[in-house]
Amino acid sequence: MEISPNLHWLDGGASNLYLIVEEAGLTLVDTGMPKRQQLVLDAIQQIKRSPTDLTRIVVTHADIDHVGSLAAIQAATGAKIFASAATAEFLVRGKSPKHLPWYMQFAVNTFFSYKSVSADLIETVQAGDVLPVLGGLTVMATPGHTPDHHAFFCPSAGVLFAGDALNTRDGRINPSPPRLTADEEAAAQSAIRLLELAPATIACGHGRPSSDHSADDLMALFNQLRKPA
Ligand SMILES: [Zn+2]
Repeated sequence: MEISPNLHWLDGGASNLYLIVEEAGLTLVDTGMPKRQQLVLDAIQQIKRSPTDLTRIVVTHADIDHVGSLAAIQAATGAKIFASAATAEFLVRGKSPKHLPWYMQFAVNTFFSYKSVSADLIETVQAGDVLPVLGGLTVMATPGHTPDHHAFFCPSAGVLFAGDALNTRDGRINPSPPRLTADEEAAAQSAIRLLELAPATIACGHGRPSSDHSADDLMALFNQLRKPA
């Protein structure tokens, strides 16, 4: 579903993927759980482009529900992977960052490994870098949900790829849920910085992407997260 010009939302069930469609090439933001490669390849076919048109895969963080299909999609398309150095360390080992209650972490570590990718397929990015996507996609370090978490903001389109720094539920915008957050204080600070951008579209990792929120909605969450003076 096209949620903003040239931006398609792919519902991966457990998490969201986003496909940015440009003449020069296609860019995917996050890859969903394992076995989501066909969802992406079908979406590419529907817009009458070919898999090799996917030139970039941008990764917000190394949780399995965001990088589960990374290796498969990369192999099917030849895309370059863009991730922070901290995320890249996990990607080459097929591991996820620690940030869950111990029993969930145990289950994830034991039963849910994902296929690793080779380091030479990854171009590392850092806060302040601007990718040539949607007129300029700025990399933002947004630790909290996980230490390696990054968001990506496109000022000219007003689109924020929030990863798990923000999510939506029943039309409400929320920060990373406390029990799934490595560092709550850092997560609140990261969410505040994202809300300050006043994004017109919040392309979040979980929940429906939001385009119909008002400035008041963003300000209400901002005030809720802001530390009392
Ligand atoms: Zn996550």
